[in-house]
Amino acid sequence: MFESLSAKFQGAFASLRSKGRLKPGDIDEIALEIRSALLDSDVALSVVDFFIEQLKSRAEEVLTDLNKSTNPANAIFEIVNSLLIEILGGSARRIRLAKKPPTVILLTGLQGAGKTSLAGKLANYLKVQGNTPLLVASDLQRPNAVTQLQVVGESIGVPVFAPEPGNGVGDPVKVAKAGVKFAEDKLHNIVIVDTAGRLGVDAQLMEQAKQIRDAVSPDEVLYVVDAMVGQDAVRTAQAFFEGVGFDAIVLTKLDGDARGGAALSITQVTGKPIMFAATGETVNDFDLFHPDRMASRILGLGDIQTLAEQAKGAFDSDTAAKLEDKFASGEDFTLDDFLAQLEAMKKMGSMTKLLGMIPGANSGAMKKQLEQFDEGELVKTQSIVQSMTPLERNDPKVLNGSRRMRIANGSGRQVSDVNSLVERFTQAQKVMKQMRTGKGGMQMPPGMQMPPGMPPGMPLPQAPKVVNKKKSRSGNPAKRALES
Ligand code: GDP
Repeated sequence: MFESLSAKFQGAFASLRSKGRLKPGDIDEIALEIRSALLDSDVALSVVDFFIEQLKSRAEEVLTDLNKSTNPANAIFEIVNSLLIEILGGSARRIRLAKKPPTVILLTGLQGAGKTSLAGKLANYLKVQGNTPLLVASDLQRPNAVTQLQVVGESIGVPVFAPEPGNGVGDPVKVAKAGVKFAEDKLHNIVIVDTAGRLGVDAQLMEQAKQIRDAVSPDEVLYVVDAMVGQDAVRTAQAFFEGVGFDAIVLTKLDGDARGGAALSITQVTGKPIMFAATGETVNDFDLFHPDRMASRILGLGDIQTLAEQAKGAFDSDTAAKLEDKFASGEDFTLDDFLAQLEAMKKMGSMTKLLGMIPGANSGAMKKQLEQFDEGELVKTQSIVQSMTPLERNDPKVLNGSRRMRIANGSGRQVSDVNSLVERFTQAQKVMKQMRTGKGGMQMPPGMQMPPGMPPGMPLPQAPKVVNKKKSRSGNPAKRALES
């Protein structure tokens, strides 16, 4: 999502940067380009109008200063960045926990929006943070919704309150009420109630949602929106908001290839923040929504903060400390370290998604490479390394022909696969040495070295320098990237 918008923004800024001094006409020109980029991305007209009006008035206000500054295009970039953050909701909004537990979260939205999957993702997210959530199966309409919730609950170790079989049988209001009572009795501190959707926002859907809402007095009503649906999603959200009301929005399917208009319009249109975003079908494809990080991605600056957080979460602290020590002391990175990294990377999820957070990932060449990335490559690489002896992992120089043949047979791969891994590993070791010594202009955060398992020819991204927090002037990632 956002690829085409991102490419258009980057194109507009590239031409602005080449201009030097700016005239009022230049601002009109970029405003026009941005307007057409937003409209092409299916952003609601009212939001586009607001954006462009603000962009023009803020740019004109600072025009005199702009020309004195060394890089006026950057000042316009800053305005666009802050406007993007603004329409995306300003700052991240977290779940408000009830003073007296349990906190009741009601999930609403159309059928197929991703509510049931989201119930599991949210429960898992809250559980990892030390909560004791309970899932309540009040979607008694959609075929298999109850079973789906039970399966996801079991997979994440979260209990599911499901007294009715569903598939049209049972009273969802009674189940929701009994679920909250059950949570109180069993001391669950959070209850997530999954409700039924309809194919469109109709009177029946709103009536049932209202009845459940009145029965359980939720602390948070979340409206789940399929971001792939585009403008229609925004219209139905508005109708639901007027009919029933909600506290925050959850965007699902942000991994899809829709143009992103719904994500960019929905907060401005409904006045409610986006709280979470889902980016895939597994329980880990989910996170708090950060407007500043999303703006940073749209503007092609990547999302290093999320990447670093995910890396931190995936590496246990011992492994991370060991790798950092090695990196700092100049000791060689071995294939054993590499195995530990592969394990951690598998925990972090899809490589394509991770690499997509690197600055410039939306640019043409890098994007093509990412599209061709074979996720199975990591598993193949892992099986080759696992077939090596400790001596070979520590010192790949001992790998003569017969050892390579044995490894290939042991891992079910070809000798050429072993050769190619060893070659790429040796190259990666060299790159890491360069990063450590600062030669070649590369620097990446500790624990985030590029994997030698990458396909041949994969370009090493131009990672931004690690920003020293104390020296940073701004709290948002896009601005910080500009400052550095
Ligand atoms: P519900 O009717 O609202 O409960 O919808 P479901 O939770 O059953 O989701 C509908 C479909 O969308 C399922 O096939 C899910 O696997 C899929 N889905 C849900 N969230 C996401 C997401 O963030 N990305 C992708 N690609 N698929 C999703």
